[in-house]
Amino acid sequence: QTSLEVSGVSKIYPNGYEALADVSFNMQQGEFICIIGRSGAGKSTLLRCINGLHPVTRGSIRIQGTEITSLPDEEKLAIRRRIGFIFQEFNLVGRLSVMHNVLSGRLGYMNGFHSVIGYFSQEHRQKALECLGRVHMLHRATYRADNISGGEKQRVAIARALAQEPLLLLADEPVASLDPDLTWGIMEDLRSVAREEHVPTLVNIHDLETAKAFADRIIGIARGRILYDGPPSGLTTEL
Ligand code: ADP
Ligand code: ADP
Repeated sequence: QTSLEVSGVSKIYPNGYEALADVSFNMQQGEFICIIGRSGAGKSTLLRCINGLHPVTRGSIRIQGTEITSLPDEEKLAIRRRIGFIFQEFNLVGRLSVMHNVLSGRLGYMNGFHSVIGYFSQEHRQKALECLGRVHMLHRATYRADNISGGEKQRVAIARALAQEPLLLLADEPVASLDPDLTWGIMEDLRSVAREEHVPTLVNIHDLETAKAFADRIIGIARGRILYDGPPSGLTTEL
């Protein structure tokens, strides 16, 4: 089953800059793809378009068959709640507990008013603990998010994304703010989540060696165009 279909997508920013030019690719269930390219190549723009954060100028983006570029805002929001997004800077709420951060994603939305006062159902707590366990962070559940290390924060962010029961995971430079020795652990967690939970995962990364070591498939972009799309082993050109 095709999880994501991007076809003929172009993005021209209001200032006239064309950040994506006729980008097309498909993703299958559980695929782990790294997007590589120099700074300014258009990697973030691509993720933001898929996330519905930026409107595309041309082209089509389908998530499990649903065309998202033309959806009314409310339905777009419903889809966006099922897209897990991992940020370079983690984006946790520092004064809240690790557990509360995980609960505050889609589960928080489903709890509505109750999550504002810190009440979560037993079922959702169970789900959050399960997700924390998945990334080996159960022992940090009660810590304040600003009292854990960078690598731990990124694991918690992965758990938060997983709690959304994502149709798709997007990670924008997830290891760029971490010490190099933490990179492998985080990449391994992302890849195992993709494979074992069958969540297609797109990771923006500027380090080619890391991408080659982990990706099932690499998409290389330069100046908004796809220059390579294939297995890591076939990548010989400099982008
Ligand atoms: P990458 O993630 O590969 O570093 P980006 O997608 O962030 O690349 O940016 C691609 C290009 O688009 C860059 O030249 C950047 O300056 C430009 N760009 C990004 N956002 C905007 C914007 N809001 N308006 C105009 N240009 C932008
Ligand atoms: P990053 O490289 O970490 O993705 P950027 O510095 O490219 O971040 O962009 C930071 C913010 O500024 C983003 O919201 C982006 O859309 C915007 N931006 C980037 N380049 C431009 C630009 N040339 N004109 C206007 N906005 C831009």
